[in-house]
Amino acid sequence: MNRLENRIAVVTGASRGIGREIAKRLAGEGALVACVATSQEGAARTAGDIEASGARALAYGCDVSDAAQVESMFAAISEDAGPPHILVNNAGVTKDGLLVRMSESDWDRVLDVNLKGAFLCIRAAAKTMMRARYGRIINVSSVIGLGGGAGQANYAASKAGLIGLTKSVAKELGARGVTCNAIAPGFIESDMTSDLPQDFRDHVVKSAPAGRLGTAEDLSPAVAFLASDEAAYITGQVLVIDGGLTL
Ligand code: NAP
Repeated sequence: MNRLENRIAVVTGASRGIGREIAKRLAGEGALVACVATSQEGAARTAGDIEASGARALAYGCDVSDAAQVESMFAAISEDAGPPHILVNNAGVTKDGLLVRMSESDWDRVLDVNLKGAFLCIRAAAKTMMRARYGRIINVSSVIGLGGGAGQANYAASKAGLIGLTKSVAKELGARGVTCNAIAPGFIESDMTSDLPQDFRDHVVKSAPAGRLGTAEDLSPAVAFLASDEAAYITGQVLVIDGGLTL
């Protein structure tokens, strides 16, 4: 399928896990993908694998919580490839802990990367999207943003904040041909979930109608659809992809 041909996409957090798979999928559907991570080598590894498969990618090292780095990264992408049509805000971190013991710095870091990072990237990308009267923004939220999570007050607040951001951007930019949607994954196999206790994994497997944890490949087709022309009339929505866990 080449439904993203001639599109330029930016995927943050593309060095590993879900972002890496989304980058590969968008590139496989024809987009030139700018892979972003704090580690330039990690971003370059994903971009290199994409190029080796015959698709097109570039790599950028950037901490999305830093406004100056985000602005200069988007300027570099526009210069190297052209202004982006698609933005996937996937970069995210956890710093879990019980609320009463949570440090201010753990609260700030999670909000800064997961929520402010998305705001900064949207702000940087939106100007040219509005001018082009075309854009697709997809924010990676979480079922924890919808239902909360004990020991994850910072993460839940950041992911719930992303949903408010998604709806506001959808309202503000809709008339300019820019859509903004979120996905809310359940528990997905990745570095982020590698230390989930076995009894919690067992609980997910038992509770989800799908009977298993998810994979990054369970998410990327939905992101590619939301990034395509076919999703032009879908905006401000949150697509839960959790194997039915939160039903
Ligand atoms: P992961 O394997 O830990 O990967 C996180 C990615 O984000 C890495 O590429 C990391 O690259 C990048 N990153 C972290 N901080 C960054 C920053 N300040 N600036 C730029 N890039 C940064 O996590 P994952 O499981 O793939 O999760 C990806 C997204 O899905 C996150 O937003 C997460 O909250 C969300 N999510 C995950 C699950 C799950 O079960 N795994 C469920 C729901 C939602 P570097 O370390 O190289 O910077």
